[in-house]
Amino acid sequence: MVLAQLGEKISCALQKMRNSTVVDEGVLNECINEINRELIIADVDYQLLSNMVNRIKEAVVHRPVGHNKRIAIEQAVFKELFKMLDPGKPSFTPEKGKTSVVILVGLQGSGKTTTCTKYAYYYKKKGFKPALVCADTFRACALDQLSKMHKKPRSLSLEGARFYTVIDPVEVAVEGVELFKKETRDLIIVDTSGRHKQDNDLFEELRQLSEATKPDLVIFVMDSSIGKAAFSQARAFKQSVAVGAVIVTKMDGHAKGGGALSAIAATKSPVIFIGNGERVDDFEDFDVDRFVRRLLGKYFLFMNKIHEVVPMDQQSELLQKCSKGDLSLRMIFELSSNMDHLIQVFSKLPKLVELDRGKEGMAKAKAMMNSMTNEELDSSNPVKLINESRKKRIARGSGCKIHEVTKLIEMYKELAKKYWSLMKGFKMPKKGDMNA
Ligand code: GDP
Repeated sequence: MVLAQLGEKISCALQKMRNSTVVDEGVLNECINEINRELIIADVDYQLLSNMVNRIKEAVVHRPVGHNKRIAIEQAVFKELFKMLDPGKPSFTPEKGKTSVVILVGLQGSGKTTTCTKYAYYYKKKGFKPALVCADTFRACALDQLSKMHKKPRSLSLEGARFYTVIDPVEVAVEGVELFKKETRDLIIVDTSGRHKQDNDLFEELRQLSEATKPDLVIFVMDSSIGKAAFSQARAFKQSVAVGAVIVTKMDGHAKGGGALSAIAATKSPVIFIGNGERVDDFEDFDVDRFVRRLLGKYFLFMNKIHEVVPMDQQSELLQKCSKGDLSLRMIFELSSNMDHLIQVFSKLPKLVELDRGKEGMAKAKAMMNSMTNEELDSSNPVKLINESRKKRIARGSGCKIHEVTKLIEMYKELAKKYWSLMKGFKMPKKGDMNA
């Protein structure tokens, strides 16, 4: 996906800055300009970016005393991207057994009708009784599409969902909603017309429709390939109706994805789903954390976590050791016990989960380490020191099994390798260089 490339480019710009001996104004500007350029190429709104750049620069200038400039830049970039994606207020979520009215708005071709059925199908699978009102009277075939789409893909069915239409869109919406309320449908989804371009008639119609049906949620449906127009389009809809959430469609195509960031900023509403195909189940929950992780990669999150959990005066030494692959068992253990979140990212390997997660695993690891010598704990190559007879002694001393000591050493090897592969090649600031 193009977003992954964007993430790579951002990481690259940060890496270049990290590798500079001294981070002066020129290096800072070059780094920010590069990130800015990549986001512009990805179709993020220009004005939005200009504000973001100013805030990053300010965060670096006003960083707390003793804070490393490199770290301040990274944190500010992360914070700003996260802020762009997370408007800070959750969207309305329908509740089973309680009537909710949800209206989908957006330009023609954005994927509204398709998304209506995807949305209905998503909640039907959760046990809701959805109903769809076709208020897209502008396009003659919309009802047909709405009612037939579920029959297309392999055995996925909206059977049991109902459909309703007449001619005046506001009348359709009001009557359809009333009808389905009487039927105690708990999720009434209204598909609206879109037209080819934004025009005042469309917005007036949406305003009236929204006023008459009093929806619990208005969702702005946006085609991810609309590029730079995303911000102004989303803002225009937000000005007419109270958009409370965004669904971005066609993320399976060649879209650059930056438009999604602009739509969130323009509507101050979260993205709740991503459409990634034409089938009714090509629909994904949207999770900001997962998205940012995909965008920026593990390295960035790792650094962010280090800055959060490791005391400032120990960060430099730790990062240097990480980058050289010199981490001792003691360091790995301290990192692991502090960094639950990070461990989740890394713990794809079942053997890590077993020891890392849960208090029992941690307590066992601690007991085993208490039975090790300082030399074993602080060596950058404990595997060489802890031979079979030492494993037996450690197991006896800690009340654990020999295979558990072996597992701890394996865990150490895996984590040391992961940390090292994330950090190798990075030039880290020295202690006296922390303000540079
Ligand atoms: P509307 O005019 O906003 O109601 O848009 P439609 O629902 O009719 O969709 C327009 C076109 O986009 C149709 O050909 C859909 O099959 C297609 N479409 C909608 N969502 C997606 C998606 O997530 N991925 C892809 N590849 N196509 C989609």
